[in-house]
Amino acid sequence: MGILKRAISKDASAVSMALDAADIVGEIEKIHKTSAVVTAALGRLSIAASMMGYGLKGKDDSITVKIDGGGPAGMLLAVSDGMGNVKSYVQNPVVEIPLNSIGKLDVAGAVGKDGTLTVAKDLGLKEPYCGMVPIVSGEIGEDIANYFVSSEQIPTVCGLGVLVNPDLSVNCAGGFLVQLLPFADENCISTIEKNVSKINSVTDLFKSGKTVEDIALSLLDGLEPNILDESNPVYKCDCSRERTEKILAGLNSEELEKLAAEQEVTEVCCHFCNKKYTFTPEEILSLKKI
Ligand code: ZN
Repeated sequence: MGILKRAISKDASAVSMALDAADIVGEIEKIHKTSAVVTAALGRLSIAASMMGYGLKGKDDSITVKIDGGGPAGMLLAVSDGMGNVKSYVQNPVVEIPLNSIGKLDVAGAVGKDGTLTVAKDLGLKEPYCGMVPIVSGEIGEDIANYFVSSEQIPTVCGLGVLVNPDLSVNCAGGFLVQLLPFADENCISTIEKNVSKINSVTDLFKSGKTVEDIALSLLDGLEPNILDESNPVYKCDCSRERTEKILAGLNSEELEKLAAEQEVTEVCCHFCNKKYTFTPEEILSLKKI
C-alpha cells in the first residue's frame, strides 16, 4: 500500500504532495518482470501518474500518462484514478544498458529523448482532455514538470526516484510534486526554490527515514504549511471478463468468425496485470452483432 499526503501553505498559494510508492513499484516489477532500469523508468512514470490523478473528482475519472521517446524500452504508459491507484504498461520490460555517467540507472537511455509525453484526462466528458509536449530529458520528473508549465501553465517542481536492489527487488520508491497557484507571490516562489534546492535525490530522502509527511511539509517550509489530506494508493487493474468481451465485440463478424474457426480457445491477456481470459469458439461467435 502506498502512502500519499498533500500539504498546503497557509495562504493557499502553494500545494505540495509526497508519495511513498515502494509497494506499488514492487508490484510493477513482479507483474511486468522488468529489468532494473525499466523498473526505475516505469516506476517513476507510475509515481507521477498516481500524484497527478490524485484529487480527480469523479468516481470513474482517470488520467493516462504516456511517454514515447524512441528508446529501447519503447512506449511506457501509466493510468491513475482519483485516489491515486495506478496501473502501468511498458512495451519492452527487459532492457540492459550500462549505468549513466553518474553511476545511476540510465532512465533517459531506456526511455529515449526523441519523442513526446502525452497526458490524457478522462473526466467523463465526451472527449478526453489531451496535452502533449516534447520530451526534455527522458528522466521523467523534469518532463512532468515541463508538461505542467507548458501545457497547463502551472509552475511545478516534480521529483521522482526508484532505487532497485541487486536482486531486482525495489529498495525504495517515491516522489513529490509542488505546484503554485496563480496568485503565489515572489516570496512564496523563492522560499520553495530554496526548499527544493536542499533535496539531493528523492530516494535519499526515503533512505534517511523521512516520511511523506516530512517531505510534503518541508517543501513548503517557511510558508506555515498544513497537511490537507491523504490517501493509500495501490497498484490496481480494473479489467474484467465483461470488459474483455466488450473489446472482442468491437471486432467485426468476419474477424470473430475467423477467430472461432482458427482457435480452439481464444486467450486474451490483460497488458496491465497479465490476467488471462479465455473464450471458446461458441462464446466468440455469440459476441457477433445480431
Ligand atoms: Zn488487468
